[in-house]
Amino acid sequence: MRVCLVGVGLIAGSLGLALREKNQTLSVVGLGRHAETLERGVTLGVLDEWSLDPAIALAKADIVVLGVPLGATANVLSWIKPHLPKAAVITDVGSAKGCVIEDVEAVFGELPVTFVPGHPIAGTEHSGIDAAFGRLFFGRRVILTPTERTSQEATQAVETLWSQAGAHVVTMSVEHHDRMLAMTSHLPHMLAFGLVDMLAGASDHEEILRYAAGGFRDFTRIASSDPVMWRDICLGNRDALLEALAAYRSDLEKLAHFVDQADGDGLEAIFNQAKSTRDAYRHWFES
Ligand code: NAP
Repeated sequence: MRVCLVGVGLIAGSLGLALREKNQTLSVVGLGRHAETLERGVTLGVLDEWSLDPAIALAKADIVVLGVPLGATANVLSWIKPHLPKAAVITDVGSAKGCVIEDVEAVFGELPVTFVPGHPIAGTEHSGIDAAFGRLFFGRRVILTPTERTSQEATQAVETLWSQAGAHVVTMSVEHHDRMLAMTSHLPHMLAFGLVDMLAGASDHEEILRYAAGGFRDFTRIASSDPVMWRDICLGNRDALLEALAAYRSDLEKLAHFVDQADGDGLEAIFNQAKSTRDAYRHWFES
């Protein structure tokens, strides 16, 4: 089994580490744009070998994993397309799926039956190959969004790959994925970026941040995430994100109204509902 990682950063790098730890018979080859990153991949134990040349890196690949930011998907696919072995299964790790499918269709004319859209629900606010670690996906979910065209064998191969990395694989439709993730991941990142940006604009922001405590730290950790990656995710999942932002804005207005009216019961009712929901599912978030 030969796996080719195209773009070896936090996510693909962590997959490479997990696979090499688990399965000694599998070889992981890296393809990218910078020799230093790929050589670092060998040093860190992510890769067995690497090349800057897609003809070399993709030769005899059984599975090809795209690990690049969403905005780079189309260009990278065009670059590798002439060199993809016919039977190779192709998958990706992008945080929104509709836009990836559009890019694949634009490059290939139609979705190849060997293409399996994927998204690991695991990550950190750090980027790059040095941030990769082999246990990142352990016990985490990976969502696959195969379409009607995707072959069952290809989906099975990608499922096996992620299982070897310790993840639980679930499948769902592209639309469902993009709507869910807009609410649970993309919207919270908007809120964190927005809050820190708002504070950064205050002339006394240093003084404000000096008094920031645990709540601020927990809520804003994800505002340290890579701006380019998040720009691409917001643009890639625009419709679902706009829907989530509108729903949140309406809740925020309700909260502002209760504060304005000194309506303690109104505030308490919202806080109670939020707390009981958060508490009921705590074990899902904190395991
Ligand atoms: P990352 O650590 O920044 O790694 C990105 C990789 O893509 C690097 O190897 C980089 O190459 C390469 N790359 C960047 N721009 C490129 C371009 N224009 N053309 C070709 N290669 C390019 O990012 P990541 O966190 O692994 O994220 C990768 C994908 O995973 C994204 O699509 C993201 O949506 C998804 N994802 C991220 C998380 C998360 O928490 N980070 C979680 C789930 C899914 P160089 O090393 O040469 O710069």
